[in-house]
Amino acid sequence: MKVFKFGGASVNSADAVRNMAQIVQSHLESEPLVVVVSAMGKITNLLEQLVPGCSEFEFSSLELRKQLEDYHRGIASSLMPDNMEVQHRIDAWLASLDALCATLPADAGHYNYNYDQVVSHGELLSTSIISEYLNHLGINTLWVDARQLIKTDNHYREGRIDWQATQEIVRRSEFVDRSSVRVILTQGFIGGTNGGTTTLGREGSDYSAAILAYCLNAESVTIWKDVPGFLNADPKYFGDTIKISQIPYNEAIELAYYGASVIHPKTVKPIQNKGIPLFIRSFIMPEAEGSSIGDYRVLVPETPLYIFKNNQILLSILPRDYSFIAEDNLQVIFGILSKIGIRVNLMQNSALSFSICIDNNPQLVERLIEELRGMFRVRYNDGLQLITIRYYTQEVIDSIVDRRPILLEQRSRTTEQLIVPQKK
Ligand code: ASP
Ligand code: MG
Repeated sequence: MKVFKFGGASVNSADAVRNMAQIVQSHLESEPLVVVVSAMGKITNLLEQLVPGCSEFEFSSLELRKQLEDYHRGIASSLMPDNMEVQHRIDAWLASLDALCATLPADAGHYNYNYDQVVSHGELLSTSIISEYLNHLGINTLWVDARQLIKTDNHYREGRIDWQATQEIVRRSEFVDRSSVRVILTQGFIGGTNGGTTTLGREGSDYSAAILAYCLNAESVTIWKDVPGFLNADPKYFGDTIKISQIPYNEAIELAYYGASVIHPKTVKPIQNKGIPLFIRSFIMPEAEGSSIGDYRVLVPETPLYIFKNNQILLSILPRDYSFIAEDNLQVIFGILSKIGIRVNLMQNSALSFSICIDNNPQLVERLIEELRGMFRVRYNDGLQLITIRYYTQEVIDSIVDRRPILLEQRSRTTEQLIVPQKK
Protein backbone atom coordinates (compact mmCIF):
# COMPACT_ATOMS: atom_id res chain seq x y z
CA MET A 1 0.00 0.00 0.00
CA LYS A 2 1.05 3.57 -0.57
CA VAL A 3 0.31 6.48 1.75
CA PHE A 4 -0.22 10.01 0.44
CA LYS A 5 -0.37 13.10 2.64
CA PHE A 6 -1.92 16.41 1.58
CA GLY A 7 -1.40 19.47 3.78
CA GLY A 8 -3.65 22.51 4.25
CA ALA A 9 -2.22 24.48 1.33
CA SER A 10 -3.03 21.67 -1.11
CA VAL A 11 -6.74 21.78 -0.24
CA ASN A 12 -7.31 25.47 0.52
CA SER A 13 -9.93 26.17 -2.18
CA ALA A 14 -12.29 24.29 -4.48
CA ASP A 15 -9.69 24.44 -7.26
CA ALA A 16 -7.01 23.12 -4.95
CA VAL A 17 -9.25 20.17 -4.02
CA ARG A 18 -9.87 19.50 -7.73
CA ASN A 19 -6.12 19.44 -8.29
CA MET A 20 -5.58 17.16 -5.30
CA ALA A 21 -8.29 14.78 -6.56
CA GLN A 22 -6.60 14.66 -9.95
CA ILE A 23 -3.33 13.65 -8.32
CA VAL A 24 -5.12 10.92 -6.39
CA GLN A 25 -6.92 9.71 -9.49
CA SER A 26 -3.74 9.43 -11.50
CA HIS A 27 -2.12 7.25 -8.83
CA LEU A 28 -4.86 4.69 -8.25
CA GLU A 29 -3.69 1.12 -8.21
CA SER A 30 -5.22 -2.26 -7.53
CA GLU A 31 -4.60 -1.83 -3.81
CA PRO A 32 -6.38 1.06 -2.10
CA LEU A 33 -4.42 4.27 -1.71
CA VAL A 34 -4.27 5.58 1.86
CA VAL A 35 -4.76 9.36 1.85
CA VAL A 36 -4.13 11.53 4.92
CA VAL A 37 -5.39 15.12 4.79
CA SER A 38 -4.95 18.21 6.99
CA ALA A 39 -7.46 20.92 7.70
CA MET A 40 -8.13 23.20 4.72
CA GLY A 41 -5.89 26.25 4.32
CA LYS A 42 -5.40 28.13 7.56
CA ILE A 43 -8.40 26.62 9.35
CA THR A 44 -6.31 25.24 12.22
CA ASN A 45 -5.25 28.81 13.08
CA LEU A 46 -8.85 29.96 12.96
CA LEU A 47 -9.99 27.14 15.23
CA GLU A 48 -7.15 27.94 17.63
CA GLN A 49 -8.58 31.43 17.98
CA LEU A 50 -11.99 29.94 18.70
CA VAL A 51 -10.81 27.84 21.62
CA PRO A 52 -10.86 30.57 24.30
CA GLY A 53 -14.30 31.81 23.15
CA CYS A 54 -15.65 28.33 22.92
CA SER A 55 -17.42 28.17 26.21
CA GLU A 56 -19.07 31.54 25.59
CA PHE A 57 -22.80 31.62 25.84
CA GLU A 58 -23.44 32.77 22.26
CA PHE A 59 -20.79 30.64 20.61
CA SER A 60 -22.82 29.86 17.52
CA SER A 61 -23.15 33.53 16.64
CA LEU A 62 -19.44 34.36 16.88
CA GLU A 63 -17.93 35.88 13.75
CA LEU A 64 -15.14 33.28 13.57
CA ARG A 65 -17.64 30.45 13.85
CA LYS A 66 -19.45 31.97 10.87
CA GLN A 67 -16.23 32.26 8.86
CA LEU A 68 -15.54 28.61 9.52
CA GLU A 69 -18.98 27.64 8.26
CA ASP A 70 -18.95 29.88 5.17
CA TYR A 71 -15.51 28.72 4.09
CA HIS A 72 -16.35 25.01 4.15
CA ARG A 73 -19.83 25.41 2.69
CA GLY A 74 -18.38 27.56 -0.09
CA ILE A 75 -15.82 24.96 -1.10
CA ALA A 76 -18.32 22.11 -0.87
CA SER A 77 -20.96 23.84 -2.96
CA SER A 78 -18.45 24.86 -5.59
CA LEU A 79 -17.28 21.26 -5.89
CA MET A 80 -20.73 19.64 -5.76
CA PRO A 81 -23.45 22.27 -6.32
CA ASP A 82 -26.47 20.07 -5.79
CA ASN A 83 -25.13 17.62 -3.29
CA MET A 84 -27.10 17.76 -0.06
CA GLU A 85 -25.19 14.90 1.53
CA VAL A 86 -22.00 16.95 1.84
CA GLN A 87 -23.92 19.86 3.40
CA HIS A 88 -25.45 17.43 5.91
CA ARG A 89 -22.00 16.22 6.85
CA ILE A 90 -20.87 19.81 7.38
CA ASP A 91 -24.02 20.42 9.47
CA ALA A 92 -23.15 17.44 11.62
CA TRP A 93 -19.61 18.65 12.40
CA LEU A 94 -20.80 22.17 13.12
CA ALA A 95 -23.46 20.78 15.41
CA SER A 96 -20.84 18.68 17.15
CA LEU A 97 -18.69 21.77 17.64
CA ASP A 98 -21.60 23.78 19.00
CA ALA A 99 -22.60 20.99 21.36
CA LEU A 100 -19.03 20.66 22.58
CA CYS A 101 -18.76 24.33 23.22
CA ALA A 102 -21.89 24.25 25.31
CA THR A 103 -20.36 21.64 27.59
CA LEU A 104 -16.57 22.13 27.65
CA PRO A 105 -15.12 23.22 30.99
CA ALA A 106 -14.31 26.93 30.86
CA ASP A 107 -11.37 27.12 33.26
CA ALA A 108 -7.84 27.61 32.02
CA GLY A 109 -6.72 24.26 33.45
CA HIS A 110 -8.65 22.52 30.68
CA TYR A 111 -7.19 24.57 27.87
CA ASN A 112 -5.23 21.75 26.21
CA TYR A 113 -8.13 19.34 26.43
CA ASN A 114 -10.57 21.87 25.00
CA TYR A 115 -8.07 22.73 22.27
CA ASP A 116 -7.97 19.19 20.95
CA GLN A 117 -11.74 18.70 21.04
CA VAL A 118 -12.28 21.91 19.08
CA VAL A 119 -9.29 22.15 16.74
CA SER A 120 -9.69 18.56 15.48
CA HIS A 121 -12.86 19.69 13.70
CA GLY A 122 -10.70 21.22 10.94
CA GLU A 123 -9.53 17.81 9.78
CA LEU A 124 -12.95 16.22 10.32
CA LEU A 125 -14.53 18.85 8.07
CA SER A 126 -11.88 18.76 5.35
CA THR A 127 -11.86 14.98 5.01
CA SER A 128 -15.66 14.77 4.99
CA ILE A 129 -15.88 17.21 2.09
CA ILE A 130 -13.04 15.56 0.19
CA SER A 131 -14.44 12.09 0.72
CA GLU A 132 -17.80 13.17 -0.71
CA TYR A 133 -16.02 14.75 -3.64
CA LEU A 134 -13.91 11.71 -4.50
CA ASN A 135 -17.02 9.53 -4.38
CA HIS A 136 -18.81 12.10 -6.52
CA LEU A 137 -16.02 11.65 -9.10
CA GLY A 138 -16.67 7.91 -9.05
CA ILE A 139 -13.60 7.04 -6.95
CA ASN A 140 -14.89 4.64 -4.32
CA THR A 141 -13.61 6.24 -1.13
CA LEU A 142 -13.91 5.06 2.43
CA TRP A 143 -13.80 7.78 5.11
CA VAL A 144 -12.14 6.59 8.31
CA ASP A 145 -12.14 8.40 11.65
CA ALA A 146 -8.47 8.68 12.72
CA ARG A 147 -9.56 8.94 16.37
CA GLN A 148 -10.55 5.29 16.19
CA LEU A 149 -7.24 4.30 14.61
CA ILE A 150 -4.39 6.30 16.06
CA LYS A 151 -4.39 5.74 19.79
CA THR A 152 -2.50 8.07 22.09
CA ASP A 153 -2.10 8.76 25.79
CA ASN A 154 -4.00 11.72 27.22
CA HIS A 155 -1.23 14.23 26.75
CA TYR A 156 -3.50 16.75 25.02
CA ARG A 157 -1.95 18.85 22.22
CA GLU A 158 1.03 16.49 21.99
CA GLY A 159 -0.50 13.02 22.14
CA ARG A 160 2.07 10.26 22.46
CA ILE A 161 1.34 7.27 20.28
CA ASP A 162 0.38 3.92 21.77
CA TRP A 163 2.12 1.97 19.04
CA GLN A 164 0.91 -1.43 20.07
CA ALA A 165 -2.77 -0.50 20.23
CA THR A 166 -2.55 1.54 17.04
CA GLN A 167 -0.87 -1.25 15.15
CA GLU A 168 -3.46 -3.81 16.26
CA ILE A 169 -6.37 -1.58 15.34
CA VAL A 170 -4.93 -0.58 11.98
CA ARG A 171 -4.26 -4.20 11.05
CA ARG A 172 -7.78 -5.30 12.00
CA SER A 173 -9.49 -2.32 10.43
CA GLU A 174 -11.05 -1.61 7.07
CA PHE A 175 -7.59 -1.21 5.66
CA VAL A 176 -7.42 -4.88 4.88
CA ASP A 177 -9.59 -6.84 2.42
CA ARG A 178 -11.36 -3.96 0.80
CA SER A 179 -11.02 -4.81 -2.83
CA SER A 180 -13.77 -2.47 -4.02
CA VAL A 181 -12.39 0.55 -2.17
CA ARG A 182 -9.93 2.66 -4.17
CA VAL A 183 -9.08 5.28 -1.54
CA ILE A 184 -9.00 5.10 2.23
CA LEU A 185 -9.22 8.67 3.44
CA THR A 186 -8.44 9.80 6.95
CA GLN A 187 -7.42 12.85 8.97
CA GLY A 188 -3.89 13.89 9.77
CA PHE A 189 -2.96 15.47 13.11
CA ILE A 190 -5.66 13.84 15.26
CA GLY A 191 -5.89 10.73 17.37
CA GLY A 192 -7.97 9.33 20.17
CA THR A 193 -7.62 8.43 23.80
CA ASN A 194 -10.13 7.05 26.29
CA GLY A 195 -11.04 10.57 27.32
CA GLY A 196 -11.69 11.99 23.85
CA THR A 197 -9.84 13.46 20.91
CA THR A 198 -6.13 14.27 20.99
CA THR A 199 -3.86 16.08 18.57
CA LEU A 200 -0.27 15.25 17.76
CA GLY A 201 1.21 18.76 17.75
CA ARG A 202 1.03 21.47 15.08
CA GLU A 203 1.95 20.33 11.60
CA GLY A 204 1.45 16.78 12.83
CA SER A 205 -0.24 15.40 9.71
CA ASP A 206 3.08 14.24 8.27
CA TYR A 207 3.55 12.24 11.43
CA SER A 208 0.08 10.68 11.04
CA ALA A 209 1.03 9.52 7.55
CA ALA A 210 4.24 7.99 8.92
CA ILE A 211 2.38 6.23 11.75
CA LEU A 212 -0.09 4.63 9.35
CA ALA A 213 2.69 3.68 6.95
CA TYR A 214 4.57 2.03 9.81
CA CYS A 215 1.52 0.06 10.97
CA LEU A 216 0.63 -1.02 7.44
CA ASN A 217 4.18 -1.83 6.34
CA ALA A 218 3.47 0.53 3.48
CA GLU A 219 5.46 0.56 0.28
CA SER A 220 6.09 4.31 0.46
CA VAL A 221 4.88 7.64 1.85
CA THR A 222 4.45 10.69 -0.39
CA ILE A 223 4.03 14.16 1.07
CA TRP A 224 2.57 16.56 -1.49
CA LYS A 225 3.81 20.11 -0.87
CA ASP A 226 3.92 23.56 -2.43
CA VAL A 227 7.69 23.31 -2.96
CA PRO A 228 9.36 21.13 -5.61
CA GLY A 229 10.96 18.88 -3.00
CA PHE A 230 13.48 19.05 -0.19
CA LEU A 231 15.41 22.28 -0.81
CA ASN A 232 18.82 23.15 0.64
CA ALA A 233 17.26 26.23 2.32
CA ASP A 234 13.88 27.80 2.91
CA PRO A 235 13.15 29.95 -0.18
CA LYS A 236 11.73 32.59 2.21
CA TYR A 237 15.26 33.33 3.42
CA PHE A 238 17.45 32.28 0.56
CA GLY A 239 17.56 33.21 -3.11
CA ASP A 240 19.16 30.36 -5.04
CA THR A 241 17.85 27.19 -3.51
CA ILE A 242 18.91 23.81 -4.83
CA LYS A 243 16.63 20.78 -4.73
CA ILE A 244 18.13 17.77 -3.01
CA SER A 245 17.14 14.57 -4.85
CA GLN A 246 18.25 12.02 -2.28
CA ILE A 247 18.50 12.45 1.47
CA PRO A 248 19.65 9.76 3.90
CA TYR A 249 17.13 9.14 6.72
CA ASN A 250 19.54 10.33 9.40
CA GLU A 251 20.26 13.52 7.55
CA ALA A 252 16.53 14.25 7.32
CA ILE A 253 16.16 13.67 11.07
CA GLU A 254 19.09 16.01 11.80
CA LEU A 255 17.65 18.70 9.54
CA ALA A 256 14.19 18.50 11.05
CA TYR A 257 15.79 18.67 14.51
CA TYR A 258 17.70 21.84 13.61
CA GLY A 259 14.44 23.38 12.42
CA ALA A 260 14.03 22.62 8.70
CA SER A 261 10.31 23.06 8.27
CA VAL A 262 9.77 20.81 5.28
CA ILE A 263 8.73 17.81 7.36
CA HIS A 264 7.53 17.35 10.93
CA PRO A 265 10.47 16.19 13.09
CA LYS A 266 8.81 13.00 14.31
CA THR A 267 7.97 11.78 10.82
CA VAL A 268 11.16 10.08 9.71
CA LYS A 269 11.98 7.73 12.58
CA PRO A 270 9.02 5.31 12.27
CA ILE A 271 9.43 4.89 8.55
CA GLN A 272 13.19 4.58 8.85
CA ASN A 273 12.66 1.68 11.25
CA LYS A 274 10.75 -0.13 8.53
CA GLY A 275 12.92 1.06 5.63
CA ILE A 276 9.94 2.75 3.95
CA PRO A 277 10.95 5.49 1.48
CA LEU A 278 9.49 8.99 1.91
CA PHE A 279 8.90 11.11 -1.18
CA ILE A 280 8.35 14.85 -1.19
CA ARG A 281 6.64 16.09 -4.31
CA SER A 282 4.97 19.23 -5.58
CA PHE A 283 1.19 19.37 -5.89
CA ILE A 284 1.73 22.35 -8.19
CA MET A 285 3.96 20.34 -10.56
CA PRO A 286 2.78 16.79 -9.88
CA GLU A 287 4.74 15.35 -12.82
CA ALA A 288 8.07 16.55 -11.44
CA GLU A 289 10.22 14.08 -9.61
CA GLY A 290 10.62 15.65 -6.18
CA SER A 291 12.96 14.36 -3.48
CA SER A 292 13.29 11.06 -1.74
CA ILE A 293 14.38 10.30 1.79
CA GLY A 294 15.61 6.78 2.22
CA ASP A 295 18.39 4.37 2.90
CA TYR A 296 21.06 6.41 1.13
CA ARG A 297 24.68 6.91 2.14
CA VAL A 298 25.11 10.53 1.01
CA LEU A 299 23.18 13.58 -0.08
CA VAL A 300 22.65 13.96 -3.81
CA PRO A 301 23.78 16.50 -4.80
CA GLU A 302 26.31 17.17 -2.05
CA THR A 303 25.82 20.82 -1.22
CA PRO A 304 25.64 22.99 1.91
CA LEU A 305 22.26 22.98 3.67
CA TYR A 306 20.98 26.03 5.55
CA ILE A 307 18.45 26.36 8.33
CA PHE A 308 17.45 29.77 9.61
CA LYS A 309 15.58 30.37 12.84
CA ASN A 310 14.45 33.94 13.37
CA ASN A 311 13.25 35.72 16.49
CA GLN A 312 15.76 34.08 18.78
CA ILE A 313 16.88 35.27 22.19
CA LEU A 314 20.24 34.47 23.76
CA LEU A 315 20.27 34.26 27.57
CA SER A 316 23.44 34.22 29.66
CA ILE A 317 22.83 32.68 33.05
CA LEU A 318 25.37 33.40 35.81
CA PRO A 319 25.30 31.93 39.33
CA ARG A 320 24.82 34.68 41.92
CA ASP A 321 27.14 33.05 44.40
CA TYR A 322 30.12 32.90 41.99
CA SER A 323 30.05 29.13 41.99
CA PHE A 324 31.07 27.55 38.71
CA ILE A 325 28.60 26.35 36.17
CA ALA A 326 28.65 22.66 36.94
CA GLU A 327 26.27 19.73 37.18
CA ASP A 328 24.26 21.03 40.14
CA ASN A 329 23.60 24.43 38.59
CA LEU A 330 22.82 22.86 35.23
CA GLN A 331 20.37 20.51 36.86
CA VAL A 332 18.46 23.44 38.32
CA ILE A 333 18.46 25.32 35.02
CA PHE A 334 17.25 22.33 33.00
CA GLY A 335 14.62 21.53 35.61
CA ILE A 336 13.16 25.00 35.14
CA LEU A 337 13.36 24.81 31.33
CA SER A 338 11.61 21.50 31.27
CA LYS A 339 8.93 22.61 33.72
CA ILE A 340 8.08 25.64 31.59
CA GLY A 341 8.34 23.61 28.37
CA ILE A 342 11.11 25.57 26.66
CA ARG A 343 13.24 23.85 24.04
CA VAL A 344 16.88 24.92 23.86
CA ASN A 345 18.05 25.52 20.29
CA LEU A 346 21.73 25.94 21.16
CA MET A 347 23.72 26.02 24.39
CA GLN A 348 27.26 26.73 25.53
CA ASN A 349 28.96 27.05 28.87
CA SER A 350 32.04 28.64 30.38
CA ALA A 351 33.24 28.46 33.97
CA LEU A 352 31.01 31.31 35.12
CA SER A 353 28.12 31.44 32.71
CA PHE A 354 25.76 29.23 30.76
CA SER A 355 24.25 30.52 27.50
CA ILE A 356 21.13 29.26 25.82
CA CYS A 357 19.47 30.28 22.58
CA ILE A 358 15.69 29.84 22.58
CA ASP A 359 12.66 31.00 20.58
CA ASN A 360 11.56 34.40 21.82
CA ASN A 361 8.12 33.60 23.15
CA PRO A 362 7.71 36.62 25.50
CA GLN A 363 5.40 34.91 28.01
CA LEU A 364 7.59 31.86 28.43
CA VAL A 365 10.80 33.89 28.50
CA GLU A 366 9.40 36.14 31.21
CA ARG A 367 8.48 33.12 33.34
CA LEU A 368 11.90 31.62 32.76
CA ILE A 369 13.76 34.75 33.83
CA GLU A 370 11.54 35.08 36.87
CA GLU A 371 12.24 31.51 37.97
CA LEU A 372 15.98 31.80 37.35
CA ARG A 373 16.40 35.11 39.15
CA GLY A 374 16.48 33.55 42.61
CA MET A 375 19.76 31.74 42.01
CA PHE A 376 21.16 33.38 38.91
CA ARG A 377 21.77 36.67 37.24
CA VAL A 378 20.34 36.67 33.72
CA ARG A 379 21.39 38.82 30.77
CA TYR A 380 19.89 38.61 27.35
CA ASN A 381 20.09 39.73 23.72
CA ASP A 382 17.06 39.51 21.48
CA GLY A 383 16.29 40.10 17.79
CA LEU A 384 18.69 37.34 16.82
CA GLN A 385 18.92 34.75 14.09
CA LEU A 386 20.23 31.22 14.60
CA ILE A 387 21.84 29.88 11.46
CA THR A 388 22.75 26.24 11.02
CA ILE A 389 24.88 25.20 8.07
CA ARG A 390 25.51 21.53 7.34
CA TYR A 391 28.52 20.80 5.11
CA TYR A 392 29.84 24.33 5.46
CA THR A 393 32.90 25.94 3.93
CA GLN A 394 34.48 29.14 5.26
CA GLU A 395 33.38 30.92 2.12
CA VAL A 396 29.77 29.88 2.64
CA ILE A 397 29.86 31.02 6.29
CA ASP A 398 31.33 34.42 5.38
CA SER A 399 28.73 35.07 2.76
CA ILE A 400 25.83 34.13 5.05
CA VAL A 401 27.13 36.12 8.03
CA ASP A 402 27.61 39.08 5.75
CA ARG A 403 29.78 41.05 8.21
CA ARG A 404 27.28 40.81 11.06
CA PRO A 405 28.83 40.38 14.52
CA ILE A 406 28.77 36.76 15.69
CA LEU A 407 27.44 36.44 19.24
CA LEU A 408 28.08 32.73 19.56
CA GLU A 409 29.51 30.08 17.29
CA GLN A 410 29.74 26.30 17.45
CA ARG A 411 31.41 24.08 14.92
CA SER A 412 31.61 20.34 14.44
CA ARG A 413 33.01 18.38 11.53
CA THR A 414 29.75 18.65 9.59
CA THR A 415 27.77 21.46 11.20
CA GLU A 416 28.35 25.14 11.87
CA GLN A 417 25.91 27.05 14.09
CA LEU A 418 25.98 30.81 14.51
CA ILE A 419 23.96 33.41 16.32
CA VAL A 420 23.88 36.83 14.67
CA PRO A 421 21.56 39.86 14.76
CA GLN A 422 18.61 39.23 12.50
CA LYS A 423 18.61 41.35 9.32
CA LYS A 424 15.89 43.96 9.26
N1 ASP B 1 -3.80 21.14 10.49
C1 ASP B 1 -2.71 20.97 11.40
C2 ASP B 1 -1.86 22.22 11.45
O1 ASP B 1 -2.08 23.13 10.69
C3 ASP B 1 -1.88 19.78 11.12
C4 ASP B 1 -1.12 19.83 9.82
O2 ASP B 1 -1.43 20.62 8.94
O3 ASP B 1 -0.16 19.07 9.66
O4 ASP B 1 -0.97 22.28 12.26
MG1 MG C 1 -0.08 22.13 7.47
